[in-house]
Amino acid sequence: MPLNDSYAAVRQRIALAAQRAGRDPQSITLLAVSKTFDAAQVAAVAALGQADFGENYVQEAVDKIAALRPRWPALRWHFIGPLQSNKTRDVAAQFDWVHSIDRLKIAQRLSAQRPAHLPPLQVCVQVNVDGEASKSGVPPQQAGELAAAVARLPRLELRGLMCIPAPRDGLQAQREPFARLRELRDAIAAAHGLALPTLSMGMSADLEAAILEGATLVRVGSAIFGARSRPHGAAQEAGR
Ligand SMILES: *Cc1c(COP(=O)(O)O)cnc(C)c1O
Repeated sequence: MPLNDSYAAVRQRIALAAQRAGRDPQSITLLAVSKTFDAAQVAAVAALGQADFGENYVQEAVDKIAALRPRWPALRWHFIGPLQSNKTRDVAAQFDWVHSIDRLKIAQRLSAQRPAHLPPLQVCVQVNVDGEASKSGVPPQQAGELAAAVARLPRLELRGLMCIPAPRDGLQAQREPFARLRELRDAIAAAHGLALPTLSMGMSADLEAAILEGATLVRVGSAIFGARSRPHGAAQEAGR
């Protein structure tokens, strides 16, 4: 499918799901996940009006951002992959958002390394909603404590929670982990007095379920760009 058709189809899916949920489609941000796709493909999607792009691998992203920034200075870059402490400096300098905070140490480094001329880094705490051993994310029982500590860091702005549930078939089954993330967000917001407006949840296979449960940001890769061929694509990332 040509990119403009696949992109329009994803926008349509979001609009329909929002309508079904009784929500304003404008309240849902589409994050185009461009990992493994090159700068020319990102530029093609940016030319359709897309502003937010998600990347998982630091070096790949840094190269792509450098190639695109001169012509596309207003794109917003979101880091959504596992983050090691030796890679935090590049992420703090190059990205607008990080969705995958699951340890205080990483958050402290990002805050310390955020360049002074940039606004605070927008971050989400990633929660391992299904308790999968192979998955990144803080266990739900520890998410409140981590969120409260992250919220106190001066150069980060905590926006909410993110999750990557285990794959499930069918809308009802897909909704269940997203509902749990929403309830956890509500509980943490109340217990710690935090505003946590962002629920970063839903991908190509389950964005409708996520929107029905309150997602404010869906992360969509293959439904826009097509299947990824490189072995370190989403399959591995999402533990599939
Ligand atoms: C790859 C990836 C996505 C997009 O997955 P698709 O199934 O291609 O839509 C979303 N979120 C994260 C964290 C990813 O790694």
